[in-house]
Amino acid sequence: MPHTPQHDAIDLSVRGVSKHYTGFTAVDQLSLAVAKGSFFSILGPSGCGKTTLLRMIAGFISPDEGDIVIGGQSMREVAPNRRPVNMVFQHLALFPMMSVGDNVGYGLARRGLPKAEIRRKSEAMLERVGLPGTAGKRIDQLSGGQKQRVAIARSLVLEPTLLLLDEPLGALDLKLREHMKLELKQLQHEIGTTFVYITHDQSEALVMSDQVAVMNKGRFEQVGTPQQLYYQPASAFVAGFVGNSNRLTVTLSGSGEGVTDNGLPLRLAAQQGEGGQQALFIRPETIALARHEADVAAFDNRLPCRVETLYFDGANSTVQVRDARYGTPLHVALPHTGQHADLQPGETVYLGIRAEHAKAFRE
Ligand code: ATP
Repeated sequence: MPHTPQHDAIDLSVRGVSKHYTGFTAVDQLSLAVAKGSFFSILGPSGCGKTTLLRMIAGFISPDEGDIVIGGQSMREVAPNRRPVNMVFQHLALFPMMSVGDNVGYGLARRGLPKAEIRRKSEAMLERVGLPGTAGKRIDQLSGGQKQRVAIARSLVLEPTLLLLDEPLGALDLKLREHMKLELKQLQHEIGTTFVYITHDQSEALVMSDQVAVMNKGRFEQVGTPQQLYYQPASAFVAGFVGNSNRLTVTLSGSGEGVTDNGLPLRLAAQQGEGGQQALFIRPETIALARHEADVAAFDNRLPCRVETLYFDGANSTVQVRDARYGTPLHVALPHTGQHADLQPGETVYLGIRAEHAKAFRE
């Protein structure tokens, strides 16, 4: 039966945790709470400190400040091999010379369980990850996606409170990665173990997670659901890192008016009307495009533009246009109905942008 996250119960609390290296703070007073049974991702660019944080949760690195609490117990005095956690790495660290079953049963054997029980548990777990009847196979007889599932089965068979996953899809090719994203989410949902997943890939984090912490320079910029990060980014960093956006620089003059650095006046959401220079984000799919000016008459911002280039990648079509008066380049997502797929470079079009879709943030 699919598992329902119990959002009132917390499996992991990170409480004011920091890690300093000489002259450098890799993790800066981070706190977070991960609900039991949830899929929690830590998303950030290379070097933001996510591996350092994960290693502190696993116990491979000690925090300089703060505490990590797993299943209600402080981990301060608990060695890595005694923590109720398991880790899956990008380079799966499977034993190629051993059978699939022996790989999955490895941790149980180290715990000294009887052979028959190891076999029963390993085979049951292989079934749960969708690999029934593979216990006797060699690791090198499996595909990349199957190896991934063996690595996860090997961790889950130890029944950890938390499964920590360190960019586990990073080494797979694009098509398999897309497929495994959906599989991992489904597997987590069915098994109900709390997953803490680190990635620099925002689409992985959005697709799989119940909650995402966006990390930058050792700190969390925002913790929220994928929808909250996408529709209500809390900072310029989140708005720029999660999803695609047109990014402009505006100077705000109060009461929701702004002017871009090349002079284009824009009306923005009123609550963002602080003065000064800010980064402005407009998502391509929030911009309306019409061939007649009257069709965008109801929008707060109406821009006559010249079509420059159309980009088609199968699922999406995007057009790059340039504002006819101020020369501001913008990307606009075209509707999936195929409308406007025949736009020609040089053609005049009219953009409509609602004030609420033009979001400005201080950097
Ligand atoms: P990536 O995705 O590239 O692995 P990350 O977000 O996981 O990046 P970390 O590996 O946690 O980042 O590293 C955070 C920062 O801390 C980096 O700037 C790194 O150079 C630095 N760092 C990590 N370990 C050490 C160390 N042992 N000594 C000094 N600096 C370190």
